[in-house]
Amino acid sequence: MKLSPNSNPPEPDNLLIRFHNQTGAAVDVTGSEHGHSSRWHCHGCGDLSGYHSLSFTRDEANGHATTCRASHHRLG
Ligand SMILES: [Zn+2]
Repeated sequence: MKLSPNSNPPEPDNLLIRFHNQTGAAVDVTGSEHGHSSRWHCHGCGDLSGYHSLSFTRDEANGHATTCRASHHRLG
């Protein structure tokens, strides 16, 4: 796997889970384990979810990481 600069971005303080998409770009789940206060952000395509429960966010992030092939190099 060719690693992009987004494979291992700095870990946010509230990082809960890090998935990696098909190109190895990080898909980070951040927020809180409690309530509807977690969201995911893909460093490959820049997609950002709304706030949901952790179980929902985790499933969504996992699903996104499975299908996302983006490895954008200029997204923050
Ligand atoms: Zn993506």
